[in-house]
Amino acid sequence: MAPIKSIEYFRVKPRWLFVKVTDNEDKFGWGEATLEGHTQAVEGALDEIIGRLVGYEADDIEHIWQTIWRLGFYRGGPVFMSALSGIDIALWDLKGRRLNVPVYQLLGGKVRNKVQVYAWIGGDRPSDVEVAAKARLAQGLKCVKMNATEDMNWLDSPSVLDSCIERIKQVKALGLDAGLDFHGRLHRPMAKQLAKALEPYRPLFIEEPLLVEHPEAIKQLSQHTTIPIAFGERLYTRWDVKRFLEDASVDVLQPDIAHAGGISETKRIATMAETYDVAIAPHCPLGEIYPFSSFIS
Ligand SMILES: [Mg+2]
Repeated sequence: MAPIKSIEYFRVKPRWLFVKVTDNEDKFGWGEATLEGHTQAVEGALDEIIGRLVGYEADDIEHIWQTIWRLGFYRGGPVFMSALSGIDIALWDLKGRRLNVPVYQLLGGKVRNKVQVYAWIGGDRPSDVEVAAKARLAQGLKCVKMNATEDMNWLDSPSVLDSCIERIKQVKALGLDAGLDFHGRLHRPMAKQLAKALEPYRPLFIEEPLLVEHPEAIKQLSQHTTIPIAFGERLYTRWDVKRFLEDASVDVLQPDIAHAGGISETKRIATMAETYDVAIAPHCPLGEIYPFSSFIS
């Protein structure tokens, strides 16, 4: 048991923000609070939080999580939750280092020795897709994730659907499975058409076919297609996730550990998802000390 002596943050290029928590025995842990494009905002949130936590017992991770969550009138959102995530991850790391065990031992121990992975191949240009997919195949991968489409208008030419189909056909022809990431670039009229058009090619999932600020539309889309729907990188707490689980509109939930309240909240979200028969795939495009970064692309 040792009180927190300091909490520092460090910007690291290209876009990372790391958090270091040190206790009064000079033991430390690292976390990540990267919020791409909003680094200064997260730093400001951390500045407000840090002063209140010095002297708190570093082992009391849940107490600290709840203290940060409840310390002001306003809660949630990407900035506040990324700051909270960075501190939470660092506290778990600190405790693991103090006890000389990996964090997974603190969470109940491991449940598997290997995990399925896919790798990112970009895919903005159809001409690049085949080259990138072949490179992943040579690495021994069996699944890839790729961009599905560029921005689309609310109503666009049906021809833009064809290029999306063409990309997945190229990848499937190589014997790879593929998940398609739409990054919320679609609107409902085109999403409905594209999901139907993609069904014969059986993508592993379609990710963020619509933005999460349209829960009604996502629910409708999920009832319209047999393709599994994945999203969650822009949901920040168990309360953000709740509606989508109740609506049965998500098949693969992708909380981002650096945005969704750290290891503590991600584990809670995973447990909630299990009770709705929804898979969990932690979202991870971020830095090198990010939990699971060696596993998930
Ligand atoms: Mg994504």
